[in-house]
Amino acid sequence: MYIGVDVGGTNLVVGIVNGEGDIIAKAKCPTDTIKPPKAVIGDILRLAAEACEKAGVNKAEIKSFGFGTPGTIDFEKGAVINSPNIPLMNNFPLRDTIQAEWAIPVYLVNDANAAAFGEAFAGSAKGCESMVMVTLGTGIGSGIVLNGKLMMGFNHIGAEIGHTVVVLDGWECNCGRKGCWEKYASASGLIALTREKMEANPDSKLWEIAPTLEAVDGKTAFAAAAQGCSAGKAVVELYLDYLACGVGNLVNIFQPQVLCIGGGISNEGDALLLPLIARVEKGSFRHPKNNTEIRIASLGNDAGIIGAALAEV
Ligand SMILES: [Zn+2]
Repeated sequence: MYIGVDVGGTNLVVGIVNGEGDIIAKAKCPTDTIKPPKAVIGDILRLAAEACEKAGVNKAEIKSFGFGTPGTIDFEKGAVINSPNIPLMNNFPLRDTIQAEWAIPVYLVNDANAAAFGEAFAGSAKGCESMVMVTLGTGIGSGIVLNGKLMMGFNHIGAEIGHTVVVLDGWECNCGRKGCWEKYASASGLIALTREKMEANPDSKLWEIAPTLEAVDGKTAFAAAAQGCSAGKAVVELYLDYLACGVGNLVNIFQPQVLCIGGGISNEGDALLLPLIARVEKGSFRHPKNNTEIRIASLGNDAGIIGAALAEV
């Protein structure tokens, strides 16, 4: 049995995961963004004990403790360098502090990488030696699994596919570059594209679905398009072009067996998937028989827990 922790912006979730990638039990509490690190670790250890009890698992049966956390991981130090959800956790010796309490291996994995590994191990890309996952949320989270292992670069901080440029001198990104893929193809990107279209089209149906620009979300344009709104359709088409641009790049570099799409926008299902597949088929290098399958991720937030528990084991 293995412990996987998902350090989310809303909740801290601890799961007990078996070697098959099944979550046996979970325990969670709200993420307190201003708590000192030692108190957060106290919460995590309490949740771990609670999850063990729910699962009927003895502490001695737990082989390792894995953290899936946003931010850049300092692998050698066992710390998170820039922790967006819990800023006080920056540079805190997370691995050593947990290890002092539970004398078992403790691993830190970026949350997007953890989610990719979870989908590869037990989800939509189960059984695939090579896969890429992109999560369309506030930004674009991404992870690459090659030969059954996460590809994270020599310094363990890859794979930040969301910060590859698709528009030269495009919209400014908080990473310091301009025109990053996530500025256009994340949920935030779709919202920005929708608002831009609404401002230019004061009579469009988009305004019926979202009465103010603040009310726009990742569903607005898809909902308008489904109702026949031409402005909504134009936003969705443009969004899909940006999304397919990055996905085509990934297919051309990695030729993964499966590329899976997660995050809030993936809830659009076939309205997203089918036109995306058609675009990528046209815009990527094709093998005569075997080509990358693009799928919707299947595990939701559980992917991060399973991946955190098993990625480094
Ligand atoms: Zn960027």
